[in-house]
Amino acid sequence: MFKKVLIANRGEIAMRVHRACRELGIQTVAVHSTADSKAMHVRLADESVCIGPPQAKDSYLNIAAIVSAAEITGADAIHPGYGFLSENARFAEIVKAHDITFIGPSADHIRTMGDKIAAKKAVGDLGIPLVPGSDGALANVDEAMEAAKAIGYPALIKAAAGGGGRGMKLVETEDQLEQQLQAASQEALAAFGDGSVYIERYLKQPRHIEIQIAADSHGNVVHLGERDCSLQRRNQKVLEEAPSPVLSAEEREKIGETTRRAIEGLGYLGVGTVEYLYENGEFFFIEMNTRLQVEHPVTEQITGIDLVREQISIAAGNRLSFKQEDVRFQGHAIECRINAEDPRTFVPSPGRIKEFHAPGGLGVRFDSAVYDGYDIPPFYDSMIGKLIVFGDDRELVLRRLGRALDETVLSGIKTTVPLFKDLLGDNEFQRGDYHIHWLGEWLEKQEGGE
Ligand code: ADP
Repeated sequence: MFKKVLIANRGEIAMRVHRACRELGIQTVAVHSTADSKAMHVRLADESVCIGPPQAKDSYLNIAAIVSAAEITGADAIHPGYGFLSENARFAEIVKAHDITFIGPSADHIRTMGDKIAAKKAVGDLGIPLVPGSDGALANVDEAMEAAKAIGYPALIKAAAGGGGRGMKLVETEDQLEQQLQAASQEALAAFGDGSVYIERYLKQPRHIEIQIAADSHGNVVHLGERDCSLQRRNQKVLEEAPSPVLSAEEREKIGETTRRAIEGLGYLGVGTVEYLYENGEFFFIEMNTRLQVEHPVTEQITGIDLVREQISIAAGNRLSFKQEDVRFQGHAIECRINAEDPRTFVPSPGRIKEFHAPGGLGVRFDSAVYDGYDIPPFYDSMIGKLIVFGDDRELVLRRLGRALDETVLSGIKTTVPLFKDLLGDNEFQRGDYHIHWLGEWLEKQEGGE
């Protein structure tokens, strides 16, 4: 096992990794920007190193500073968390070149999955169902037109290098194609330095259902069931649950096993998530994330498996502590992403937290790095905590979630807590009857005062 792990991240995920390391008897090194010198992950770590000024490009994305910090402190592994450098193949290569273990998959796997066209090809060859679309990048309008004819309208133009919903454009009819193609390509070029785009069938009311996998270096590959992340705003996840309210045990077993086998075929190492859209009983691959995900706790709560502990252990060359046949799904879990944002306009609300009280009690987990008097810096993502609630069944979890939200005190700033309280009162949400566009429509209705 590793002796010392450097955590190349901040906020709740830095805390999450620190906790797993502590329980494994591993020393931790926190890195931080000047804006984060008083952060909880810095206080709790055994050592800490300041790696630059507030802007992420100068600190949390500063590869040279992070690798130097690992060398100076003698860390034998780096955990990238999610976001920042977690899916940067070059970073994984540089870390390895310095004889430090990157806690994640190989740089090659990161690179393949980071290019959605290459990713579709790789997993499609291994039996994973794809969204019907163009074979590769679109060279010109004629190619786009031909592909769109074959799949039908509406169609979606997507960036090969895409992330965070950028470079994605809807094409409702043929006359919009040329303009949207250009717009998508330009947006992708500006955001990712790569203007390659492809086209897919636009699914009208799908759910977003993803499969968690884990693979060790001894040939054990397992799936840990699904997470339903259909509650989204502008293609960004807001609330996640496991199991999905709509999937049968047979469907779970089938898509889980298809995914597991494909991951085995890839020779993948580490934890990862294969994301699908699900409509009319069919799954369509959209992308694979080669890292730990924000919403991993809902899987932990229904399987009793510590994903971060397994992830670190796998990277150290150990076997997974369980086999596929040991995996049992028990109960239900829901995660709410609590953002420092206005709950109506979603405008970020950084500033000082005057009073903080975390919800607790049976079946409640609050993953966060905030504390009384903490100053939320304006430079980073606005997610400040994750409320995870679990219990025997979904009905109980919804009631428990309501009481946990009522217990939550976060004063001095605006948060999305009121949004979740309102959502709990909605009948469709209560029935689990929602799709990826549902929340956007629901928010519009609220605005309209209905
Ligand atoms: P990104 O990496 O930019 O987040 P994804 O491919 O993961 O892009 O897609 C993000 C979200 O966009 C999905 O969860 C879904 O809501 C929507 N989306 C993506 N592809 C399609 C599609 N073919 N049809 C309808 N919605 C889609």
